[in-house]
Amino acid sequence: MPATVLVVEDEPAIQELIAYNLRQAGHHPLRADNAEQAQALVRDMLPDLVLLDWMLPGASGVDFARRLRAEERTRDIPIIMLTARSEERDKVTGLETGADDYITKPFSPRELLARIKAVLRRRAPQMTEDAVELAGLAIDPAAHRVTAHGAPVGVGPTEFRLLHFLMTHPERVHSRAQLLDRVWGDHVFVEERTVDVHIRRLRKALEPWGLDRLVQTVRGAGYRLSAA
Ligand code: CA
Repeated sequence: MPATVLVVEDEPAIQELIAYNLRQAGHHPLRADNAEQAQALVRDMLPDLVLLDWMLPGASGVDFARRLRAEERTRDIPIIMLTARSEERDKVTGLETGADDYITKPFSPRELLARIKAVLRRRAPQMTEDAVELAGLAIDPAAHRVTAHGAPVGVGPTEFRLLHFLMTHPERVHSRAQLLDRVWGDHVFVEERTVDVHIRRLRKALEPWGLDRLVQTVRGAGYRLSAA
């Protein structure tokens, strides 16, 4: 599944190479030369993953990683740190940045993409193609198919993404703002009631099987997918 990947790298040639390889693999790169630019980008759009160079002019990659981990909105974004040498990597690992993985430069595009895939699988299951099943409701991202007790359910593209996110993060309450961030990738320009509209459509699609009960409203908090 295509991921939005924020690349924070001050060396133009490396930044370009990474962005090129991400695009080739079907991902959407966002690019920043330093932590300040990256911070500004994150304010508008939550990336699915951050590739973060350790040595940056101004605030270091370690500082930026800590800042992401400190804020509730950005806490769960997977981070892969890029280091220049293996000694740097040891040092960065020792600094407990909260990064999910580390890659030592120079790395092959293949290695980079494999690491991205592994980290997304672990930390962002909604970005993988793995099929998910809950209480008779199943979603298969690879086939772009939703079934209720084996019967096909027709849902629109937004409902599909919404359902996929909820199914890969069940039993947790998600606020409207969080859903806009994670499903729409935009919490600034899309209105919160948009979420309600698509939740309503999703429930309607699931209603014939009584599975609309899985999509629960948590008063004053948001929505939750639960079999309970
Ligand atoms: Ca650098």
